Amino acid sequence: MNEGHDVTALDNFYTGTTANIAPLLQRDGFKFSRHDVAIPFWVQADQTYNLASAASPKDYQAEPIETMKTSFLGCLHALETAKASEGRILQASTSEVYGDPQIHPQPETYWGNVNPFGARSCYDEGKRSAEALIYSYRQMFDVEARVARIFNTYGPRMRADDGRVVSNFIVQALQGQPITIYGDGSQTRSFCYVDDLVEGLMRLMNSNAELATGPVNLGNPNEFTVLELAELVLEMTGSKSRLIFEDLPSDDPKLRQPDIGRAVEELNWRPQVQLREGLQRTIDYFDTHLSAHKPANDTVAVHPDQTDLAHAGL
Ligand code: UDP
Repeated sequence: MNEGHDVTALDNFYTGTTANIAPLLQRDGFKFSRHDVAIPFWVQADQTYNLASAASPKDYQAEPIETMKTSFLGCLHALETAKASEGRILQASTSEVYGDPQIHPQPETYWGNVNPFGARSCYDEGKRSAEALIYSYRQMFDVEARVARIFNTYGPRMRADDGRVVSNFIVQALQGQPITIYGDGSQTRSFCYVDDLVEGLMRLMNSNAELATGPVNLGNPNEFTVLELAELVLEMTGSKSRLIFEDLPSDDPKLRQPDIGRAVEELNWRPQVQLREGLQRTIDYFDTHLSAHKPANDTVAVHPDQTDLAHAGL
């Protein structure tokens, strides 16, 4: 919108909230519709960004059939709208198409190591089927399409109960709760700050470079173990939370790091915000957000009739 475009947004609010779009609702040129993309829709658009899907394992595993429908049918309907509009579509794919990778770091040419029959399959195979659909629409109808393989992304406006590692660790640290490490914490992830990702998505959408018409990895190539992340969050928040070790979920990838050579070369894109800086912004966000929901120390939230009981400490 800041670049002068009119924007129509669709969301079923499975993981999003109205608070996230509240500032946009007042602006000219912004339209919003509460809609599930698994149900057909029609928007006349020059550019369609299909970012619909739960992305946290906790959320996508709670509704695995919806997850598959969102990925496949959502992509189908977005493609139909792009085709009829004679516009361009960008499909959000994922590093999960590489599964538990046997090649490290992962280039776009790697076909992946995905379990088709397991806890993460609804998301991994859902996104893989969407990529195949994009390929097919291009072959059959010449639809202009871009595919971004998005690696772990974090930042302000994540939900406190999202369940992914960055928000979990920050919220646990700020609340003095134990930090939950799944497995021994030696598995790695590479964390990309949200603003960097948005810049990469826009560059990819607008690129006409030959290689950018294939899938493009977007992520921060700096790799950390989960244990390193926990220690950094503890240090930066000054929290006294202790670490606890829980079972590693099944099919949890052991390593993940993007090879971003294609994005660097074709889009001239590199993440600018490194982990410490991005974490600080996210910690600040949660600090404000969580304390907004905490009663201040000197007030007790009680019904007026119960004031005496509250004073009595009951
Ligand atoms: N993880 C963890 N503790 C948590 C949440 C996640 O140790 O409270 C681990 C998880 O097992 C995985 C990594 O952190 O190895 C990243 O998990 P996340 O759910 O953020 O994303 P994923 O990359 O697995 O989709």
